[in-house]
Amino acid sequence: LKPVPSDIEISRACTPKPIDQLAKEIGLLPDELELYGNTKAKVQLETLKRLQAQPDGKYVVVTGITPTPLGEGKSTTTIGLVQALGAHLKLNVFACVRQPSQGPTFGIKGGAAGGGYSQVIPMEEFNLHLTGDIHAITAANNLVAAAIEARMFHEATQSDKVGSSVLNYTSLYLNQLNLVIHKTEPTALIEEEISRFARLDIDPDSITWQRVLDTNDRFLRKITVGESPTEKGHTRSCQFDITVASEIMAVLALTTSLEDMRQRLAKMVVATSRSGEPVTAEDLGVSGALTVLMRDAVKPNLMQTLEGTPVFVHAGPFANIAHGNSSILADKIALKLVGPSGFVVTEAGFGADIGMEKFFNIKCRYSGLRPHVVVLVATVRALKMHGGGPTVTAGMPLPKEYVEENLELLEKGCCNMKKQVENASAFGIPVVVAVNAFKTDTDAELDLICNLAKEAGAFNAVRCSHWAEGGTGAVALGEAVQRAAEAPSHFSFLYQTELPIVDKIRIIAQKIYGADDIELLPEAQQKVERYTKQGFGNLPICMAKTHLSLSHDPEKKGVPTGFILPIRDIRASVGAGFLYPLVGSMPTMPGLPTRPCFYDIDLDPVTGQVNGLF
Ligand code: ADP
Repeated sequence: LKPVPSDIEISRACTPKPIDQLAKEIGLLPDELELYGNTKAKVQLETLKRLQAQPDGKYVVVTGITPTPLGEGKSTTTIGLVQALGAHLKLNVFACVRQPSQGPTFGIKGGAAGGGYSQVIPMEEFNLHLTGDIHAITAANNLVAAAIEARMFHEATQSDKVGSSVLNYTSLYLNQLNLVIHKTEPTALIEEEISRFARLDIDPDSITWQRVLDTNDRFLRKITVGESPTEKGHTRSCQFDITVASEIMAVLALTTSLEDMRQRLAKMVVATSRSGEPVTAEDLGVSGALTVLMRDAVKPNLMQTLEGTPVFVHAGPFANIAHGNSSILADKIALKLVGPSGFVVTEAGFGADIGMEKFFNIKCRYSGLRPHVVVLVATVRALKMHGGGPTVTAGMPLPKEYVEENLELLEKGCCNMKKQVENASAFGIPVVVAVNAFKTDTDAELDLICNLAKEAGAFNAVRCSHWAEGGTGAVALGEAVQRAAEAPSHFSFLYQTELPIVDKIRIIAQKIYGADDIELLPEAQQKVERYTKQGFGNLPICMAKTHLSLSHDPEKKGVPTGFILPIRDIRASVGAGFLYPLVGSMPTMPGLPTRPCFYDIDLDPVTGQVNGLF
């Protein structure tokens, strides 16, 4: 239809096929499916074991140039490309995408199900609770928070009563345990219990674990806990983050099996003791309970595109303080299901300097999977911004430079695409540039981008119109991706994890961002020493940097040069498996705007339809 209707109208106009029918078409057995209504199902991890001997399909990662705040269409292109490969080129396909946080759904407009005629449906299911994975993470995360607080309280109040003797504290614990352990239990068991409940002596100032909620509630950015008299003055200042910023979300995304998830949850470091030892979820005795809370969340969620091709929606970690990629498990199952001639397309958050770098150096390192093709999404509007065009602001009309032909501005801005093509090529994988066309773009503008992309070393560059036309609009992209997947590739990581922390950060800053050097502020310097001493120095690096510039300054567009990247602090997600240097401050709890989306959202009591969502 022209003009293209709203995302929700398009999504509603299409009746999804029953999810069990789709599951059968793609080779899943009835026992491997757990239905959540007619349009969503969880897929059991046993599928991976059953298909162990099946060779994997081709693996494609969709990334982008440095975007405007509006987004340049990575999700839309991921879905458009699988629609083209599956529904038009008749190949086995799977898209693997992230589950969005529910918080922003009620705040500022913008779903994450793709857009136009390239979407995951039903989009209201996709953007709201889905199958409850995010709620499970909230529950698990907050159990850890409660465990930390209670442990500190009991340790402190018992030592108030009986002095600081470790033995007195432990014997009190054993007294409690005697209620459940028979008096004749062998002493070995009691000794094991004593060691499980050794005094942790958590330093309250070192606690890095926060409570989470999947609601944009800015007033929880700083809170005080323990105000009730029952907590005997044990108050503490802390904060809430949005659930997708929880380390447990990153664990879910990076885990490779249920056993592996148990181990990663156990290893999560929540604080240090007063003597400087890391305190883990296992030390708190909570990792088994966390695994129980997460046992359903670990199974990928099956949905479909507007053109009936399968999609896994699974995990949605933050793309700055975490790695911003959907789950390894979904990719692994999908690669088996499509078989050797099929394609799995997944998306990496933000621009190639962030999401793609982390996809390779963190996700691929843990999964052992090697992609065949990088698809780099570029748009006329973002490249004009890099060429010096006026500021682009979400919710405001685009300035005229962006809706009228301007080849000069565009050509100037193509430097950003060139740098991102080089960044992608540095990993040894062929790059196909997908020029996501908007209705105001001219032929001359679209051709210019394609030509400059090929000059910059892209394997190919094609324009696509899947937003307006669905899979038909991405057939040329699909064919280009097919050819690129046959081309030789020589994948290599950017750095070896054995290098010192500072060297790894410097390599990313210089090779990917184009910085002259890095500067470690005192807090970051201290953390380098602490993490190295604690044995976490060998973890890969997850840079928490703005996505709006290759540098640390969101105002610097194009390809900034001559800058020193400041590293303010470094934090550790030891269970998920990375260190994250903070380049500037990273907000982890969004707020609501003056007129939030929830004003428009309501339920039609007759049809049961959700109204007002995007
Ligand atoms: P990203 O994943 O890069 O953040 P999205 O795919 O979510 O970007 O797209 C951002 C927004 O732009 C969405 O609302 C989407 O519907 C819209 N969009 C994407 N491509 C086009 C296009 N070619 N024409 C018009 N709108 C588009």
